[in-house]
Amino acid sequence: MLENLTDRLQGVIKTLRGQARLTEENISDAMREVRMALLEADVALPVVKEFIAQVKQRAQGQEVLQSLTPGQAVIQVVHDELTELMGKANVGLNLAAVAPAIILMAGLQGSGKTTTSAKLAKLLKEQKKKVLLASADVYRPAAIEQLKTLAKQLDVDCFDSNATQKPLDIAAAALDFAKRGYYDVIIFDTAGRLGIDEAMMAEIKALHTLLNPIETLFVVDAMQGQDAVNTAKAFGDTLPLTGVILTKLDGDSRGGAALSVRHITGKPIKFVGVSEKVDGLEPFHPERMASRILG
Ligand code: GDP
Repeated sequence: MLENLTDRLQGVIKTLRGQARLTEENISDAMREVRMALLEADVALPVVKEFIAQVKQRAQGQEVLQSLTPGQAVIQVVHDELTELMGKANVGLNLAAVAPAIILMAGLQGSGKTTTSAKLAKLLKEQKKKVLLASADVYRPAAIEQLKTLAKQLDVDCFDSNATQKPLDIAAAALDFAKRGYYDVIIFDTAGRLGIDEAMMAEIKALHTLLNPIETLFVVDAMQGQDAVNTAKAFGDTLPLTGVILTKLDGDSRGGAALSVRHITGKPIKFVGVSEKVDGLEPFHPERMASRILG
């Protein structure tokens, strides 16, 4: 078990006890523990450094409420700052487009794009939207079948693409089909590779240009930990992302990727994946994530 921040701060709390305000000297030791906690939660180092600098500034001179020990006051500042950085409140999907509203899914292979596409379709179907799923993942033939199977299970339509087609042709045809069928939303699943790859980036960029989606969602596996930063940077530099979905939070990661990805992309985390099942999607709550990261 990882030690939680409250326990970690036990030692420094003693030295802080009985003070009315937090001072630079006081919080230095505490910040060392905060830094360790964040690194253990897999927040990327540059993000940790920047965060600590911010918190230090905010904590300095902070009055210690009578109800709190100075150690608790430090934790409160850290917790508030983490929550704020991750976006304060939940931000939902934006579907304010002329129908069909297009959602483009981007991310590495295995990040959970196909599963998450189905989860979103379920959510939108429950909101009485007419949803079309479509897949341009022609490199992993099973992916298109996987989406079709999930769509059937959800009783949602899936555009009939296949692995011999070109992704851009699939996109154009799916869009045409959705317009003629008066669909409210298209969720467009794309190919991912195991690593960041120029061809993949060029392809998704072209798909983005063709589809002009209202939502471009970056899907990232919370278990990726430190690596999530590089992936987020590559996708964020290539595409005008509108949001992030962090998957596999039911695993044992502490969720530090949430802070890193939010920091790198500057985009809100809109949902989190919490199981392999199609109902395993929840709105993102920054405050809960802050508590999870701090342990
Ligand atoms: P893609 O290659 O990005 O389309 O990824 P998939 O949707 O095929 O997902 C890869 C694996 O991750 C599959 O085994 C999924 O069942 C699993 N998966 C996706 N999202 C979640 C999640 O939130 N929690 C768990 N535990 N597994 C997930």
